[in-house]
Amino acid sequence: MECPRCKGAMVEDVFEDLRDDTGSLNFTGWRCIICGEILDPVIVTNRESRPEPLLGRARKKFATQLS
Ligand SMILES: [Zn+2]
Repeated sequence: MECPRCKGAMVEDVFEDLRDDTGSLNFTGWRCIICGEILDPVIVTNRESRPEPLLGRARKKFATQLS
């Protein structure tokens, strides 16, 4: 994965997103080790148009059921 801002290397990372209505939810995305740019799975899917096994929508549904 290449950073769209600085063309640096990106690493896969797990982020925690706080939502008032659904509580805490985690998602896996990409973080640039150079400038800190973050790409979430939805952004990656839209930009790359590649089939990915991880879907943000599925994760959100799962998190909602837990809360
Ligand atoms: Zn970057």
